[in-house]
Amino acid sequence: MRMRDRSRVVSLVALAALACLVIVGVAFSVRELVEPPPTATARQTTDSPTPLVESASFAGSGDIADDNAIWTDRKNPSNSVVIADNKGDSGGGIGVFGMDGKLLQFRADGMIGNVDLREGFPLAGGPTVLVGANNRSNNTLALWTLDTKTRTLSPAAAYDIETFAPNYGFCMYHSRDSGRFYAFVTPDGPGEIQQFELVDNGAGQVRATLVRTLPIDSVTESCVADDDLGHLYVGEEEVGIWKYGAEPDTGADRVPVDQAGAGRLVADIEGLSIAYGADGSGYLFVSSQGDSTIAIYDRAGNNAFVKKVTVVANGDIDAVTGTDGLDVTSFNVGPQFEDGLLVVHDDDNSGGSTSNMKYVPLASVVEITAPK
Ligand code: CA
Ligand code: CA
Ligand code: CA
Ligand code: CA
Repeated sequence: MRMRDRSRVVSLVALAALACLVIVGVAFSVRELVEPPPTATARQTTDSPTPLVESASFAGSGDIADDNAIWTDRKNPSNSVVIADNKGDSGGGIGVFGMDGKLLQFRADGMIGNVDLREGFPLAGGPTVLVGANNRSNNTLALWTLDTKTRTLSPAAAYDIETFAPNYGFCMYHSRDSGRFYAFVTPDGPGEIQQFELVDNGAGQVRATLVRTLPIDSVTESCVADDDLGHLYVGEEEVGIWKYGAEPDTGADRVPVDQAGAGRLVADIEGLSIAYGADGSGYLFVSSQGDSTIAIYDRAGNNAFVKKVTVVANGDIDAVTGTDGLDVTSFNVGPQFEDGLLVVHDDDNSGGSTSNMKYVPLASVVEITAPK
């Protein structure tokens, strides 16, 4: 090949290579325009989400874990905790677990039932994180404060706060209208749901005043209040979910949200929780124990059914069955859970001697934007 021809070929090859680069570059930028790269907030949702963490087991044997409540540390998300109960006949109590699933503290405080918490409870002149539960050992309302630095619980009830006996479940409500704090306790059989107002007794401990009772026909365990919308949801285990007003002056009027056996819920109806989204959006999560699924409803309006999900295995972390208690938050609770967390009970933890809890990224379950 002559020198001139050779340089022409070299130029043509260079031109062709440049053209290829331009085409590939344009193709990439077009694809970027059409399909934005996945981000943490755009994680795909699925009906078969997987856990990324599982909790340590309580000491003992059998299905002794039940309900939980997530405390989110807004300043230091990875410092958040999951507070969960051991309902065992012996050795029962309450435990604090880290976001890595490790047990940080255990208090042998009796057969603890359902757990809930509220921030900003005024106690001894300052805001505290108040944690509550029903204690089935002595049919009382159990209360603790959470030290957010040491991540440990200390008892906070001023005296044995007696409830309907036998009690079974529990939840809390912080009224946006009045600023008051309330506890609801549910009965293990036909009886009444009790609503107590919780206040500082003047000496840095909590006293409770019964402010309303709601008759109910059968075993009722879980409940959850929507603080912003003023609703109380109650799970009558073998019957369905009821929606009441959460304020003590709203009487016993109620509407059914869904029924067990109607296609979405299989008894027992267990844990209830609300994923708060911006501007009144979000979801009501319901544990459908009979088919080991979680049914999800709109939080707003008439609570339209959204979907059911099943938490499946992920490597060494086994699948969830016999779903009992659950809790959910839309806030950042640290690495892996920047867009929220669902914590659900698993009755049969492979390799463990007791039931435990699985931690599932909320962004893999529903699309949601946390409130400001
Ligand atoms: Ca709970
Ligand atoms: Ca139950
Ligand atoms: Ca339960
Ligand atoms: Ca399992």
